[in-house]
Order: sequence, then C-alpha cells, then structure tokens
Amino acid sequence: MAAIKIFSPATIANISCGFDVLGLALDAVGDTMTITKVADKGIRITKITGQDLPLDALKNVAGVAGLALLDASEYEGGFEIEINKNIKAGSGIGSSAASAAGAVWAINELLDRPFTPLQLVEFAMQGEKLASGVAHADNVAPALFGGFTLVRSYEPLDVVSIHTPKALFATIIHPQIEVKTSDSRKILKTNITLKDGIKQWGNVGGLIAGLYTEDYDLIGRSLVDHIVEPIRSMLIPGFDQVKSNAMQSGALGCGISGSGPSIFALSRGRKTAEQVGQAMKEVYKGIGIDYEVHVSSVNIEGIKRIP
Ligand code: ADP
Repeated sequence: MAAIKIFSPATIANISCGFDVLGLALDAVGDTMTITKVADKGIRITKITGQDLPLDALKNVAGVAGLALLDASEYEGGFEIEINKNIKAGSGIGSSAASAAGAVWAINELLDRPFTPLQLVEFAMQGEKLASGVAHADNVAPALFGGFTLVRSYEPLDVVSIHTPKALFATIIHPQIEVKTSDSRKILKTNITLKDGIKQWGNVGGLIAGLYTEDYDLIGRSLVDHIVEPIRSMLIPGFDQVKSNAMQSGALGCGISGSGPSIFALSRGRKTAEQVGQAMKEVYKGIGIDYEVHVSSVNIEGIKRIP
C-alpha cells in the first residue's frame, strides 16, 4: 500500500467532570487526510484545504506528530500529507488532535502497523504540544481509540477504552467567537478544596459506571463539573442560558467542550439531541452571535480508512 485516505474525527475532551482525563470521538464532524509513502526522507505537507494553516511540517501538528513517529521507526523513507480541514482550529473540538492523530494512524497503517495504539497516542501528543504548549492526550486518545476514553495516567501513559452506550448522542454548538486556549488555562485555579475533589471524583466514578451499565439517569446525574466549568464558562457568552435551554429540552448533561468556546450536550437518542440543538441555537440568535451546530452519534471506531 502506497497511499491511504482517512477520516479523522472531531473529539470532545473533559466531558464535564473528567477535566484533562475523559474524551469521546464524534461521527458527524472530522477532517479527511491523504497520506502517501514516498522515497524522500521526512514529512512534507503538500496541501491544506478548508483552512489557512502552516504547510511547514515543523509548524503543523500533523508534521510534528509524524516526525515523532519517524524518529522512533526504522523506516528510511518519508510521507506526503494532504489535509482537508472541516474542524475549525480553536473551536474546542479537537482540530489539532484530528490532524496529529490522523497523521500517525495513517503512517502506521502504511508501515504495516509497527506501533501500538498507545504508542500512536504518544506520537500524536507531540503535535498537541506544538498547538497548545502541553502534550495532552484527552483529544488524541479518543480519536485513535474511538468511543469514550480515559487517560488514567500520564507517567506512565495509560489509556483506557470505556464502553459507549449506543443511544448516546452529542450536540455541539460552536459560537463563532475566539477564546484563546492560553487564556482558558490561565484563569484556572491551581488548587482545589478537598470538598470539591470529593464531589468531582464521585461524578467521574458515577459517569464511568453509568456508561458501562447504560444507566442514562446515572450518566445525567454524573455530568457535573464543580471545578473548571464555574470559572471557564465566564469566557463563553450565553453559556448559562445555553445550558439551561439544553437541560430543559431533555439533555442528560451539558458543559464546555475542551477549553471552549464550543458547548456540548449529551442526550439519549438522536431526536432529543436535535431538539437540544434547536434550543441551544435560540440563545445565540437572540444575542446576535453566529454559530454552528453539530449532532452526532459517538464514533466507536475512531480514525478510519475511507475510499
Ligand atoms: P482545538 O481546541 O480545536 O483543538 P487548538 O486550539 O488545540 O484547537 O489548536 C489550534 C492551534 O493549532 C492553532 O494555533 C493552529 O494554528 C495550530 N495548528 C497547527 N497545525 C494544525 C492543524 N493541522 N490543524 C489544526 N490546528 C493546527
């Protein structure tokens, strides 16, 4: 095989109570990429459509992640990468992660899979480090593993796939405003109280148990964030109203996707997820901010080959 075309999904990181550790992959939104094996050593980004992003491999997360893989590989040649971006950079649904994870997944396929999915997460994290300064895995892990994932530990890296109930649907609204990832990190407190910690890990445990037992009420009760959301939501205009509209329309839970500004809701069934999207839209129509809405099932496959 000399070339491969792939779909690399958008992802929701954090998922309310799971700050920096939980994530899930989406079906309805993602980038496509074509990766070609070539004799010349290194990585060349030959074309990017859909968005203005650097072609220089050292400035593009796909290049940096691909080079991290090549450094660990015995392969002497190189790869050319074409990226068609559908996920807007800075939207909070894993735009950089889709490119970084997509590049290493495709290269691994073209090399006949010398690396494990966990190793691919490590390479893709180098791309994330370029995008945000932090080598985080909460978006690249669900892109590579599919479904819900838990980053249990970074040292050593330990990623756990979590069972995904079939009727779970995500609604995402992306208000067209800029929230700098650096700002949304800066405003976070570095200490939490034991009281808040207890509430938060109670909810993480509850969410995982609810996903495994497909107990939608338990999932809903657990989708609560006592630590990050109260602070970060101040950067997203209309957040409280969007959340309140989503919950009134039947969502199980609603929170900030990644570091925002996108807001996600999880619902039981597509119909509810669509009604939730309608209700979320009303808020931004009212305050005159443009938006995009996506409704998607959870993508249990992760990155995949397409014709
Ligand atoms: P998101 O929150 O949607 O993942 P990030 O803020 O993490 O978006 O990443 C976007 C940043 O990464 C931007 O500064 C962008 O220029 C940079 N970047 C570099 N290469 C890519 C790429 N291939 N796709 C998306 N963003 C990229």
